Amino acid sequence: MLIESALGDAERAFLAEVRAFLAAELDPALVAAEDAQRSFIADHERGNRWIDRLRRRRWHVGHWPAAHGGAGLTPMENYLLQYEQGLHGAPAAPPMGLAYVGPTVIRFGTEAQRAAVLPPLIAGEDHWCQGFSEPGAGSDLARVQTFAERRGERYVINGSKIWTTDAQHANKIFVLLRTRRDDSREALSFFLVDMATPGVTVRPLRMLTGDHEFNQVFFDDVEVGPEALLAGEGQGWAVARFLLEIERGSFVFGGRLRRRLARLEARLRAAGRVDAQVEHALARLDRDLLAYEMTELRLGTLAQGGALQNAAANLIKIDWTELLVRMDELGLASADPSALCADGAPLREGELGMPGWLASRFNNLAAPIYGGSNEVQRNLVFRTLRQAWGSA
Ligand SMILES: Cc1cc2nc3c(=O)[nH]c(=O)nc-3n(C[C@H](O)[C@H](O)[C@H](O)COP(=O)(O)OP(=O)(O)OC[C@H]3O[C@@H](n4cnc5c(N)ncnc54)[C@H](O)[C@@H]3O)c2cc1C
Repeated sequence: MLIESALGDAERAFLAEVRAFLAAELDPALVAAEDAQRSFIADHERGNRWIDRLRRRRWHVGHWPAAHGGAGLTPMENYLLQYEQGLHGAPAAPPMGLAYVGPTVIRFGTEAQRAAVLPPLIAGEDHWCQGFSEPGAGSDLARVQTFAERRGERYVINGSKIWTTDAQHANKIFVLLRTRRDDSREALSFFLVDMATPGVTVRPLRMLTGDHEFNQVFFDDVEVGPEALLAGEGQGWAVARFLLEIERGSFVFGGRLRRRLARLEARLRAAGRVDAQVEHALARLDRDLLAYEMTELRLGTLAQGGALQNAAANLIKIDWTELLVRMDELGLASADPSALCADGAPLREGELGMPGWLASRFNNLAAPIYGGSNEVQRNLVFRTLRQAWGSA
């Protein structure tokens, strides 16, 4: 819920501009498709169609500095833009390029790397995916084993990355690799790789619902030049941490969650499923979501950096994913049993037939895992606070 009375005049004027833009550009078919989305993860095709509309105002890179092609919005303006899009059902934008790798290259790249990466990203010509996790390295990301062996000026990469969302659509991948054969974090380096390079193979992984969101990506003698290395050998951990902080703490999910709760409530009321218990659960969700929105607003409008902000990024990752799961649980617990069937559609072999909202409930069970599991986020919050406040 946006508390508009807390906004200044300039912010209110910007909010009106955003709402006018959404009224003009957001057609009902796009919103309906987004509402029927089978998971919280952005849909590549629809998300990019929406980005094309935002691009006219540079709002797809609203928070990037103007010097690097962005709109240079203030943190509050960016918050308002993101919140309103979510609230009005605008398609979520795939984050790996514009949200993750762009700001990371702005922060760590050379001029040549910025010139190579940023313009095609802004223009929508390049689509990125994230190659961090491996079969033996997820929570303990520093254990990645995929190796980039230095041969003269060049590197030869061997290994594989797993759970790589949208690799089937991407033409670029950023990867955390090992450049030295020891276990230290100084042995890690961050590379930007063209997926058309010989030796890169993408294999789909199907989810429980039959949906295809992620993949395994194999690297077999993939040769890249020195321009693929970001921030120098041994700097991979620092770069990855910067990027993960964006992944966990820089999104505005309040508007999307607020819309989801309103739609859930409307569905339950229309089906006559709201008894005193459900009423109570809806009220608790409403209250907890408001607390989340306030935290997200405070975090989003802080200046970047600082230990407590890292902890806040971990905390809001826990919070939004658990709110999402709670909403889905309530939807399931109060569903009419007949609504659990597959909308009357015949089951096809190899598919778990189920209505979209139920598929989305299964797919969203992944939210407390992706971006770093919530258990690990809790450990990180504890560690950061202990350091910040100096207790044993
Ligand atoms: C839908 C989805 C999309 C994803 N997309 C991407 C992507 O695009 N790119 C990418 O690189 N990765 C991606 N991932 C991978 C994701 O980052 C990892 O799944 C996550 O970091 C957990 O790692 P893991 O799966 O190896 O689980 P593990 O690390 O094996 O953890 C297993 C369980 O043990 C718990 N655990 C582990 N260590 C600790 C600890 N120290 N304390 C307490 N509990 C612990 C975890 O919480 C978890 O419950 C995606 C995952 C999902 C589910």
